[in-house]
Amino acid sequence: MGHRTGMGGFMNAIADLPVDPKVKEYTARRWELLIDGDWVKAKSEQTFQTHNPATGELLAECAQADEVDIDRAVRAARRAFETGPWPAMTATERGRLIWKLGDLVLEHLEEFAELETLDNGKPISVTRAVDVPLTAELFQYMAGWANKLEGNTIPLSVPYTPGAMYHAYTLREPLGVVGQIIPWNFPLLMAAWKLGPALAGGNTVVFKPAEHTPLTALRLGELIMEAGFPKGVVNVVPGPGPIAGEALAAHPDVDKIAFTGSTAVGKRIIGAATGNLKKVTLELGGKSPNVVFADADMDQAIPGAASAIFFNHGQVCSAGSRLYVEDGAFDEVTEGVAEQAKQMKVGPGMDPATEMGPLVAEEQLDRVWDYVESGFAEGARALSGGRKMDGPGYFIEPTVLVDTNPNMKVVREEIFGPVVTAHPFSRENDVLPAANDTIYGLGSGVWTKDLSRAHRMAERLHAGTVWVNCYNVFDAALPFGGYKQSGWGREMGHEVLNLYTQIKSVCMRL
Ligand code: ADP
Repeated sequence: MGHRTGMGGFMNAIADLPVDPKVKEYTARRWELLIDGDWVKAKSEQTFQTHNPATGELLAECAQADEVDIDRAVRAARRAFETGPWPAMTATERGRLIWKLGDLVLEHLEEFAELETLDNGKPISVTRAVDVPLTAELFQYMAGWANKLEGNTIPLSVPYTPGAMYHAYTLREPLGVVGQIIPWNFPLLMAAWKLGPALAGGNTVVFKPAEHTPLTALRLGELIMEAGFPKGVVNVVPGPGPIAGEALAAHPDVDKIAFTGSTAVGKRIIGAATGNLKKVTLELGGKSPNVVFADADMDQAIPGAASAIFFNHGQVCSAGSRLYVEDGAFDEVTEGVAEQAKQMKVGPGMDPATEMGPLVAEEQLDRVWDYVESGFAEGARALSGGRKMDGPGYFIEPTVLVDTNPNMKVVREEIFGPVVTAHPFSRENDVLPAANDTIYGLGSGVWTKDLSRAHRMAERLHAGTVWVNCYNVFDAALPFGGYKQSGWGREMGHEVLNLYTQIKSVCMRL
């Protein structure tokens, strides 16, 4: 950030950044709710605004769902699940629709990338290369599963009916109506993570995007209808978490709620879900350790540790936010990561040269800033960054904090911003308890050339994912999810399909 002294220069430049005419149309229009295949106003006729975090300016206006609209959407999803074309379709036909949705996303890659960048703030280079392609990949990976979800035949040996013969088997069936609530950090990709397996499993969905970033999910809703999904199979209902989200989690006719977001809200979701004991899966917060040993290839480990925390501005639940470095390499690694932070081009996401955009909203900037200030108050020192930018837009410098101790708030709590705390360690057996000393268990990283140590660490880290000599590698085939308070269940891979289907045992006497 040292290269930029104020916001004025690039604020003028934002106005000149080219935007696809279709994207201009999407932001100029008023978005309604997708319920039962139609775009409808909220019953209350309430709307809310979404803003461009690079400028703070109004981006678009959307209908705002409340509990009445959630109920309409759940009824539509129930009808679509029980009757109509969806349950009558073959698994292959369902898979084809999901595959087609992936194709449509790719056909509209540029407009999705721009819409996501404008709504969320992340760099256009990232939305083009990561968010949109991974979304299509996820749909197409899950499309392939639709006709491969099977039960088993099971030999029975019932001891109290001697001589009787049975034919027993299991059917793998959908759960029914699924409610899905996602956050704002990967709005389109999280929609795919949720919708892909739900649809492959034959469920119908009421989907609630985050208030800050509703636009790509709404546009995806249009493509879902264009792909030919029957009405009511997917309903998209943006609205406030405590109203629309809570109503969805509590709704007595929803069979499962799947949530990604903060651990605090995850706990509320569990409470709301108890009324009808709906199934619950949760992908929650993290405070992930990233461990660099002195024997690591530093040409990989240093940029790797920087990207582990600064990718997506640290707004990643698995961000490598606690950096542990073996004695002897501590200065080289922390100064190297700080240097990478200083070199990062921070600016509006629509600028193709931008490497880090604004945080998603002012409240998020305030939250992250409060953490940085608390770190300073508790004695931490910034090797880089540690300042927020004046002016419109929600920019903060990528920050490396040293002189930390394990009790500091910045070390214990999830910051969800571009702030890493660095800690030296002397032995593998010392770093493991430190790395595992957290209520979370989502991601973790290990950088070493020692194969045995890599595998030992992989076994002993209490986290749903261990990345070795890499970080934040996501793939539709690789399960992702949390140990401890980072969540319940897994996303992606074939694991997730178990969480969108249920087993029915059929036992017939012959
Ligand atoms: P963040 O703090 O990162 O915004 P949240 O966990 O608050 O993350 O939000 C993630 C998603 O959860 C959003 O779609 C939000 O609207 C929704 N949400 C927030 N509060 C509730 C709630 N009480 N019940 C259900 N959903 C909620």
